[in-house]
Amino acid sequence: MRIDILTLFPEMCEAVLSESILGRAREKNLIEVHCHQIRAFSADKHNRVDDAPYGGGMGMVMQPQPIFDCFMHLCDTLGRRPHLIYLSPQGKTLTQQRARELTALDNLALLCGHYEGVDERVLEEIVDEELSIGDYVLTGGELPALVLTDCIARMLPGVLPDESAFTEESHFAGLLEYPQYTRPPVWHGREVPHILLSGHHANIEAFRHAQALRRTRAKRPELLAEYPLTEADKVLLESGENPPELP
Ligand code: SAM
Repeated sequence: MRIDILTLFPEMCEAVLSESILGRAREKNLIEVHCHQIRAFSADKHNRVDDAPYGGGMGMVMQPQPIFDCFMHLCDTLGRRPHLIYLSPQGKTLTQQRARELTALDNLALLCGHYEGVDERVLEEIVDEELSIGDYVLTGGELPALVLTDCIARMLPGVLPDESAFTEESHFAGLLEYPQYTRPPVWHGREVPHILLSGHHANIEAFRHAQALRRTRAKRPELLAEYPLTEADKVLLESGENPPELP
């Protein structure tokens, strides 16, 4: 998959994209990510990319021409028109489900706004979808674009050791993940649940599922309301007991 980020701050994006799991995934060509400087496409002799809003008001608005030309240049380079997402606090809230659907695309382009935002006309003309990373406002679309890129990248084949690394995590199947523990087995007098040390996979799986149900009910009851509970799940939740251990 290839993701192209259209931004006024490509260095800011590169700094994150070159590190850790994302950086290694790019090195191994499991994902291609390119950042494009919108300013390089400005037709203004001073390379301006923004101007004051018509009608008055605070701040500056990104002009349509540099964004449009940057996107057209990308389409020419790719030989196709990628699905273009504008990161915006007015978009639909990003979910694991939407990110997973986007992994099916070969090409994705992300437009980062800045200042007061982007001239509406260019959004109308080229944007396919608007996504928000939450109901709050940031200074620019770079962090949201990186959040989306990270979320997509870790679901691509080969980026994580195997699929269970993300399919068993919070939000993938509607529940929050069970609690995790590592060495030592006792810390500050707190013991790791003994089932996790037993090596009995069926018992461990049943225990973890029960924990996932309980913590989803405790932390995010609205998620549990959407989850298709089995009869056995309902009994577990009502009893508050751990599932019976198999021999
Ligand atoms: N004036 C805009 C409004 O009230 O809807 C907000 C503009 S914001 C200061 C500047 C840019 O940051 C936006 O164009 C968008 O690209 C990005 N941005 C800010 N908050 C965001 C969020 N929650 N999700 C996605 N992008 C966001």
